[in-house]
Amino acid sequence: MSRRRPARRTGKSGRPPDVRDDPIEEHPDGDWYVRSITGSSSTKTYRCPGCDHEIAPATPHVVAWPVHAGADDRRHWHTVCWRARDRRGPTRSWS
Ligand SMILES: [Zn+2]
Repeated sequence: MSRRRPARRTGKSGRPPDVRDDPIEEHPDGDWYVRSITGSSSTKTYRCPGCDHEIAPATPHVVAWPVHAGADDRRHWHTVCWRARDRRGPTRSWS
């Protein structure tokens, strides 16, 4: 007798089309989708909200957005700035 595995569909069932398999991280201010961007897929300059410095093209970094707000609200962060965010606390003041 072989163990039965649930049939895995090839399509994405039950998920909105703009939600991919991005991992969700829990933070003090809610749940965030966090997507890792590799250097080769980063072709633009972004401004990191953590340190207010630019993220140069070809720099591996993360994109994060609140689950409740949707991907329109996504921000590009330096990986270290994103990781340091929790230590800063849930404040929204960067100054
Ligand atoms: Zn930064």
